[in-house]
Amino acid sequence: MAIRPIITAPDPSLKRVSESVDQVDDDLRALMDDMLETMYDAPGIGLAAIQIGVPKRVIVMDLSLREEGEPPEPRYFVNPEILWASEELATYNEGCLSVPEEFGEIDRPAAVKARFLDYDGKQQEIDADGLLATCLQHEMDHLEGVLFIDHLSRIKRDMIVRRLVKARKAAAE
Ligand SMILES: [Zn+2]
Repeated sequence: MAIRPIITAPDPSLKRVSESVDQVDDDLRALMDDMLETMYDAPGIGLAAIQIGVPKRVIVMDLSLREEGEPPEPRYFVNPEILWASEELATYNEGCLSVPEEFGEIDRPAAVKARFLDYDGKQQEIDADGLLATCLQHEMDHLEGVLFIDHLSRIKRDMIVRRLVKARKAAAE
């Protein structure tokens, strides 16, 4: 396992649409292991492969880290698809490892049903609500090249991108 560098906005590679995975094999599991280690190290609760520069439809997640002392509960989603989404919306103050130090209130369906392949390549379905539903939709946006800031008004988004560019320049000096 290895910690990989996380790509941050406005890097254009984050806008790439990721490709479906043909097969969940040992190479893909090695990628998922690296993604999980990278996410834990950051630390974050979700990571899509494109955030470490790999344009594959793969997501890792662990929501248990929000509660101190709980054992880790890694989740893996390969080729996830939304089968159903509630009309009811929920608002979360979202952040993203690719948009460091920035947050925004985003409305998304409060509950979703999704289908995906797990770590062993087995097809699974999940009924998600609460943070899991939000996080899954946030990470699935990454697979389409969409960041949470793309759901904000243009003014807010431009302001955040300007701050990110400035922070990166300051860090490089
Ligand atoms: Zn994100």
